[in-house]
Amino acid sequence: MGLSTPVLGFGDQTHRLIVVKRRGMESYSLLDAPDDTMQQGQGLWNKLSSGLFGKQKSSSSSSSVVKHEDDDKIHVFSLASGHMYERLLRIMMLSVSRQASRPVKFWLLENYLSPAFKAMAAVMSARFGFEVAYVTYKWPHWLRHQTQQQRIIWGYKILFLDVLFPLHLKKVIYVDADQVVRADIAELWDMDLQGHAYAYTPFCASREETLGFQFWRQGYWKDHLQGRPYHISALYVVDLQRFRQQTVGDQLRATYDQLSRDPNSLANLDQDLPNYTQHAVPIFSLPQEWLWCETWCSEDSKSKAKTIDLCNNPLHKEPKLDMARRVISGKLFNHSWVQLDSEIRDVATAAGLLHE
Ligand code: UDP
Ligand code: CA
Repeated sequence: MGLSTPVLGFGDQTHRLIVVKRRGMESYSLLDAPDDTMQQGQGLWNKLSSGLFGKQKSSSSSSSVVKHEDDDKIHVFSLASGHMYERLLRIMMLSVSRQASRPVKFWLLENYLSPAFKAMAAVMSARFGFEVAYVTYKWPHWLRHQTQQQRIIWGYKILFLDVLFPLHLKKVIYVDADQVVRADIAELWDMDLQGHAYAYTPFCASREETLGFQFWRQGYWKDHLQGRPYHISALYVVDLQRFRQQTVGDQLRATYDQLSRDPNSLANLDQDLPNYTQHAVPIFSLPQEWLWCETWCSEDSKSKAKTIDLCNNPLHKEPKLDMARRVISGKLFNHSWVQLDSEIRDVATAAGLLHE
């Protein structure tokens, strides 16, 4: 019998990897900023992604700018679980594509979508002229799990943006399923995020009766934010190049893992996390009109609203579909929610698909 080795611990071992740049490559940046990458094409990241994922490459050009068929489209990410959110998602997709001045491609999280939704999405894609692609990702075993369905969905909304999409995708706009878009999303797509990895709209503060529910205005959150705004997560623009290069995904996951040790923390997971992390990952604040929600924004500001979210109202907790029928109607809208809903139902009926 040989000598047995004592077990010293059950934790993972940490390995520190020391690397050096090759001779002659000392002045090259490993992760160029996106603009530099486009000009020089010298960054390792650019070389890897263009070599592995680029479809067309100019053979002689020293600038080696990679053009992909998706480059001229507007990419919208969303997700839904359950019958009601699938119904809302169809309406969101119709409202976005109808106002958009450029082709739109939707990237939907496949994990929770029903076969009936996917069949209908294919019909809508042909009928309304947008594209639909599906992305999927399995929550990694090393990241703290969530057990409540709603919190799992919120996790997928924010935690895996760096790994969900193909590398050729440079930007994506996340839009909640319960949202109706009234403006040209190309305007948001073209907005200069001034070097930030992502952009969110600050919460409205124009509805007096709900100001008391804005918990970030006092106590712990007020101290933590140090004057920075608290943003709503119903819509956000992600510069995926910067997001990946600045390893924002890792920073968000590390912060999530640390904070979620306390089950009372991150009550609004997808929203609290980027707001909390603002010191390390600054948020570009979008103009207020990009997110109107009746709970927090005044009636006066509704006419300027570019998107409308049916966000929960802590005062009367009105069901979302009732709120949709009531809020998205009247002279401000070319199409009321009821009209959009019945238009989609007619398309489903004509295609022999039933979703009610
Ligand atoms: N969502 C979902 N299933 C759920 C809860 C949320 O699919 O059970 C998705 C859906 O895209 C929704 C988003 O997560 O729009 C955010 O949740 P919600 O809009 O209900 O939040 P609220 O606007 O009420 O704050
Ligand atoms: Ca919402």
